[in-house]
Amino acid sequence: MSDVIQWAAMTPEQRDRLVAEKIMSWQPVMCKAADPDINRYTWLEWNDDSQWCTWCGVRETWASGNEIEHRALPHPAYTQSMDSAWQVLQEMVRRHNKDGRTKDFMQFAENMLEVGGWDSSDAWSEIYPAHEIFTMAAKWTPGRICIAALKAVDVDLEAQ
Ligand SMILES: [Zn+2]
Repeated sequence: MSDVIQWAAMTPEQRDRLVAEKIMSWQPVMCKAADPDINRYTWLEWNDDSQWCTWCGVRETWASGNEIEHRALPHPAYTQSMDSAWQVLQEMVRRHNKDGRTKDFMQFAENMLEVGGWDSSDAWSEIYPAHEIFTMAAKWTPGRICIAALKAVDVDLEAQ
């Protein structure tokens, strides 16, 4: 028995991690600069205040006196940016007719129609489909796209 995941109680970073792992098959990849054979200063930039790695993003102020400790590359902020959420949408669409995962795509499509308030019984959507499609798509936010994808792959999620 697993507990239901409460979306509202999660931080944006926890939500992004859930999408990365459950949808995008994300695995941590260590910063290239952590390789001892590579000059550790290769990807470093600095200003008067601090230094940072342009690859993994880790930052240290000069005042801290700490050396840069390279880390795994961060995954995209799927629930916080439309650029990244669109990768989730494309991943779900790719599942159509692929590896027996058409069900994921079909359920995702249903969820997205529901989010947008699509009413197929409404004659208006037949007469003016473009109006309905764009009105519906305008309601899609990064968070809603990610929730629709997670629910499509049977993640037990409680979200408004
Ligand atoms: Zn790094």
